[in-house]
Amino acid sequence: MTKGSLFIISGPSGTGKGTVCKELVKHNNIYLSISATTRDKRVGEVDGETYFYISKEEFKKMIDSDMMLEYAEYSGNYYGTPKEAVEKMLKEGKNVILEIEAQGALKVKEKMPEAVMIFIIPPSIKELRDRLAKRGREDESEIEKRINTAKWEFSQCPKYNYVLVNDDLETCVKNTLEIINATNERQKIIEKLLSEI
Ligand code: 5GP
Repeated sequence: MTKGSLFIISGPSGTGKGTVCKELVKHNNIYLSISATTRDKRVGEVDGETYFYISKEEFKKMIDSDMMLEYAEYSGNYYGTPKEAVEKMLKEGKNVILEIEAQGALKVKEKMPEAVMIFIIPPSIKELRDRLAKRGREDESEIEKRINTAKWEFSQCPKYNYVLVNDDLETCVKNTLEIINATNERQKIIEKLLSEI
């Protein structure tokens, strides 16, 4: 069986990467890794689906037991990717998506250089601010904090394999699917050639 591929999707908060990922998992053989976080659950979020909501102590225990593929602090909270589930899905030949911020993304790339990194950007900063305000999750000071973090995140763009503009959701999803399909094709060809040696 062809080994699954790992995709990292990052982008500033409010860029719409969560919505892109929701669309991607509707397609065959694409799965999203569920992260653990110490941040509070928001209205509409489901424990074990959106995130695993855990305490700082539990988070630290997971790090100490080497259960995290990567983790990072973001806006005063910890976020991390539980390792076991990702490894299991890859072994099963699935396409796995990590929707994570840039510090964690770079740590994954160090450990797993074959991971394909996709950075999603908004068409403009005005649009980014408008989207954050419209979704109404963060107050004004939190929005400014996230815009400030975006400055550093944009500087990490060149380290990604692909940069996609999320101007139109459908186009952005289509472009991401093309990257996933091309990566799968490449993997299949390499495995075939290796099996012929
Ligand atoms: P939010 O609080 O808006 O759900 O997420 C804040 C940021 O944390 C987003 O950029 C999201 O991609 C990132 N994030 C979510 N899960 C993880 C994770 O497991 N690891 C890392 N490094 N970042 C994560």
